[in-house]
Amino acid sequence: MITAVGPIALWDAAPEEIRDPRVILNVGQIARVAGWIGSLPDVSPFNFTGPAFPPEGHPAALDYFFGATLQQFGFWEESRGRYGAPMIAQMGGVKSKGSDYLWRAYLRKLTSDQSHFYLPSSHADMSREDMLDLFRSDDGSDPMPVLDLRLAQAHAYGKDMVSLGLSPRSVVERANASEESLHAFLEQLDHIGGYKEDPLRKKGMLLAIILSQRPECFLHLHEDVSIPPIIDYYLMRSCLRIGLLDVVDAALEEKLIGREILQSEEEWAVRYAAYEAIQQVVERSGKSMGAVDWFFFNARQRCPEMTDPECARCPVDPVCAHRKELFQPVLRTTFY
Ligand code: SF4
Repeated sequence: MITAVGPIALWDAAPEEIRDPRVILNVGQIARVAGWIGSLPDVSPFNFTGPAFPPEGHPAALDYFFGATLQQFGFWEESRGRYGAPMIAQMGGVKSKGSDYLWRAYLRKLTSDQSHFYLPSSHADMSREDMLDLFRSDDGSDPMPVLDLRLAQAHAYGKDMVSLGLSPRSVVERANASEESLHAFLEQLDHIGGYKEDPLRKKGMLLAIILSQRPECFLHLHEDVSIPPIIDYYLMRSCLRIGLLDVVDAALEEKLIGREILQSEEEWAVRYAAYEAIQQVVERSGKSMGAVDWFFFNARQRCPEMTDPECARCPVDPVCAHRKELFQPVLRTTFY
């Protein structure tokens, strides 16, 4: 489905493409990295099972993923106008970082037999106390950043689903009945709070990938469908450090290095360029988005936010530009 640059081919009302000249693609480096990835063996896509996820076949699994995926954003704290630190906390004796913590927090409702919590109607009526209880850590504190923003997302999701008469099951069934299931799925999410706000549909695409890769195969994606990039902050950090992008504006580069809060136009300059760069890496490498994701996932592990990159142990090292000082755009959004 992706035959054009950007998300145009995926939906009828595509966002306007606005490239910002402050961040440009490094075509030579994209070709180099794509060639390197092209030589790697493929790996199996992650099937979103394990201790943080509902067991295969659980009747509440679909509701769980719709409700939890819309909260997959903003796992970091601000400190004096800059990036402070990633969210890390302990729950059930397990210390985990942002996204993993969130999956586990939502899972508690399933193991405590409160799976009605995931229903859109429950999201519409969720109280602040409900959400505090959801995210409470072992020491009794609330470690989850931007709780009120999360509550607003939950309400927006629940209210839109209820008012449109939709359920996770009906959304998936309608998509599966279409010849272009991914298009049909994203088009429905374009009307649902928590998913509809992002022009690059990061959370919507993540949900599509999860539902298609779960053992239940909730969402049926056609074999030849191309998956657009799911641009998260770790992927932008990788694009910058590996050198797939060149920041040609000195003021913006300084802000990125300083981990300063950006203007939304500055953030978009990096985010949209990263979207295009990853898309080109996929196309040039001849690999699936799953294989490219695997490559960058490993880079993320070796190239973290708060400690020095471990280049010698990183699979990207032979082709990396090693721009270790660069950091992902720092801006509070509900997109990623
Ligand atoms: S860990 Fe080193 S080699 Fe790997 S992406 Fe980061 S800077 Fe590049």
